[in-house]
Order: sequence, then C-alpha cells, then structure tokens
Amino acid sequence: MERNELIVCRDVSLGYEGQSVLTHLNLTIQAGDYLCVVGDNGSGKSTLLRGLLGLLAPQSGEIWRAEELRRGAVGYLPQQTRAQRDFPATVFEVVLSGCLNRPGTRFFYSAAQKSEALMNMGKLGILELKDQCYRDLSGGQQQRVLLSRALCAASRLLILDEPITGLDPAAAQDLYKTLSYLNEKEGMAVVMVTHDLKSALRGARTVLHIGRSSLFSGTVADYLASPQGRRFREAEQ
Ligand code: ADP
Repeated sequence: MERNELIVCRDVSLGYEGQSVLTHLNLTIQAGDYLCVVGDNGSGKSTLLRGLLGLLAPQSGEIWRAEELRRGAVGYLPQQTRAQRDFPATVFEVVLSGCLNRPGTRFFYSAAQKSEALMNMGKLGILELKDQCYRDLSGGQQQRVLLSRALCAASRLLILDEPITGLDPAAAQDLYKTLSYLNEKEGMAVVMVTHDLKSALRGARTVLHIGRSSLFSGTVADYLASPQGRRFREAEQ
C-alpha cells in the first residue's frame, strides 16, 4: 500500500439487509485529495460515507483504511438534525467534544486537547464565540463550530455530509473557502457530499457521481466533459 493512500475501496458493494445500494465501487482517497460526491436523493451518497467511515461493513469487496484512520482520526461533519441545532452547550464544549474520539482520551480533557480546540476555533475565526451557547448561533456560525469540532478529531481526513444545508449563500461560500484553505494550506483531505455542485467544484479536484446504473469517478475537468457532467452543465445554464 502506498504511503499517501488513506482509503482504498476495491470492488465494493454497500447496502442494507442483503439489498445493495452501491456495487462495483473502486475508489482511492489519497492524502490531500478533495473529492466531491454527487448524485440524486437516495442514490447512496450517505451510505458511501458510512462505508468510508467504517460504520457500515461492505457486503462484498474490501475497504482498506490507513492505520491512523482506524484509530478514529477522521473528522466527520454529519448532516445536522434539529436536536443538534438546539444543543445546550457552549461553543468551547462542543468543539472540545471532538477530542473524545481520540485514542487514549480519559475522563477529563487534557491541557493539550484544550489548546488544540482553541487553535482550531482560531483557524475558523470563531474564538470570540467561545463562551456563547451553541443554540444561539446562526446556521453559518454553527457549521464553523462543527467544523472546528471535526478538526479536533481529524489528523488527515475530513468527511462532510451536505455541509451547507440551511446556510445562506454568503455563509455557504465562506464554508467552501475554509475547506479550500484547510485542503490547500493544511494538507487536509476532504470528502464532501453536496447538492451544490457548481460552488463545490471550485474547490474540489475530483468527483464521484453516483448514478442510477453507473458510477463516474474522475477529475473535475473529465466529469464536466462526461455525459453526466454535460447534463449538469446544461441544467445550470
Ligand atoms: P443519499 O445520501 O444519496 O440520499 P442514502 O445513502 O441515504 O442516499 O440512501 C440510499 C438508499 O439506501 C435509499 O434507498 C435508502 O432508503 C436506503 N437506506 C439508507 N439508510 C438505510 C438504512 N439504515 N436501512 C435500510 N435502508 C437504508
């Protein structure tokens, strides 16, 4: 296995109770990649993320994950539920809880974890919100808090499921800029499911399009030249 490979899927089928949602999936995620996962509702995007995270075992084929990821060091930003939006904790507490997945975490947070949480909040420009209650924040601020939380867990890979849902266009652009910054300057690999393909493709380098009967996987340029990508371009015009 090459050193910079983080996750390798070989001829993978994923699904539930004997029913397959995705079949014959071959995909490699390398250090520093920025992959955008697109497809219709119900096509299997969240299912794929569950497979990549190791939450869902493949029905067949193999999902190989780098040793460091096996230890839980993936930053995951799930779709936000209503209950999470109303979570009664301070921003600092929410961010710090991202350290819980780390191996060796004891009952109390260490000073190092606290300073890492503060550093990640600084990176995302939310340090001044530290003592505010999470549920009082705007949608864009809440996403920044959850991204800081995910960074506490992530050493090399961030996985995001529809991160801009509920954000206004300016907050969404802000989030994309932050992701590009983390990807380009901090070398963080990003895998993101999104409906907002047009904006997402500005930062992404590769695309996985999950179609009804076929999968497309390739560079953004190849995708835009493919039948699926052409349809997308025409729909946008
Ligand atoms: P997407 O994220 O692209 O909208 P999903 O991965 O959520 O699609 O769902 C793909 C298919 O798998 C859908 O048909 C959905 O009904 C089914 N599915 C999703 N989660 C489960 C589950 N926990 N148990 C059974 N079927 C599921």
